[in-house]
Order: sequence, then C-alpha cells, then structure tokens
Amino acid sequence: MATAYLGVGANLGEKKKNTAIAIKRLAQRAGRILALSPFYESPAWGFVSENDFLNVALAIETPLSPFRLLAITQQIEREMGRTVKTSGVYQDRIIDIDILLYEDRILNTPRLTLPHPLMHERRFVIVPLARIAPGLLHPVLGKTIGELAEAF
Ligand code: AMP
Repeated sequence: MATAYLGVGANLGEKKKNTAIAIKRLAQRAGRILALSPFYESPAWGFVSENDFLNVALAIETPLSPFRLLAITQQIEREMGRTVKTSGVYQDRIIDIDILLYEDRILNTPRLTLPHPLMHERRFVIVPLARIAPGLLHPVLGKTIGELAEAF
C-alpha cells in the first residue's frame, strides 16, 4: 500500500457535485480516502475564464502503482466528460484530477511527473494540501507543504 496525494478541481457545471462524484469513484477504484481538505474556491489560473475553480486535496491509500493510479484518474476524467487536453493549454473543465505526490517518489516520464511539476506554484493546490498534510515533505524541493504554503 502507498499513500498518494491527489488534487481534484472543477470549474464547469455543478462543481461541488462533480467533485463529490469524482472522489466517490476514486474511493471505489483507487483506494481508501484517508483525508479530505475543505473545498477551496479560486479564480481560474493560467487562462481567462468567467468560471471560478473549486479545488480539493485528498490523501488516498492505494495498492496501485503510480501509472495504474494515473490510468484510473484519467478514466474518471474521461467518463465525466473531460476532453483531451494539449499540454500547456488551460481550459475550462468538468473535472481535473492530478497526482500531486506518491510517497516520496520522483518520476520524470512523458506520461507522469512526480511530484506534480506545478504543484508548488499553485495556491489552489498548496493551500488545501497544507490543510491535510502540513508536515509532508516535498521530495524535490526539500520543504514541507506547510512551508510551501507560507509563500502564498
Ligand atoms: P492536466 O491538464 O494538468 O490534467 O494534465 C494532464 C496531463 O499531464 C496528462 O497527459 C498526464 O499524462 C500528464 N501528467 C504528468 N504528470 C502528471 C501528474 N503528476 N498528475 C496528472 N497528470 C500528469
């Protein structure tokens, strides 16, 4: 079993409902949810949109490898109507699930980068994550999530 931290976000449609559905499917297919942050609302990041984002961070205990976990998160995104995205292009989305951290695993592959390469730049990731795992160490930056949250 491994502990992974995921970020779930939505900025279209019934955001709270969609986020809750995604969390339920993660619990059914990826493992036990150990902790869930409060819902965090913020303006869209990286692109202009009228739709605010709803974000949540969660800890999950999973038997899946990082790549199997990614396959499940992407399957849930697809089922929920998320269209294929091109890297570097941000757009409105029904649901977005990112793997933020997987144990202290460091991975740099075309399909999966761990820790998530942008997590420390995103207030809407770090702030909710700090609510459930302030003492967790970012294995590349060598700082705790609580310390990273102080930058905001
Ligand atoms: P995004 O728009 O942020 O959901 O980008 C998803 C794309 O990034 C997918 O093509 C994934 O293969 C890739 N990716 C790389 N690292 C990660 C990660 N840690 N979590 C989720 N997707 C990732």
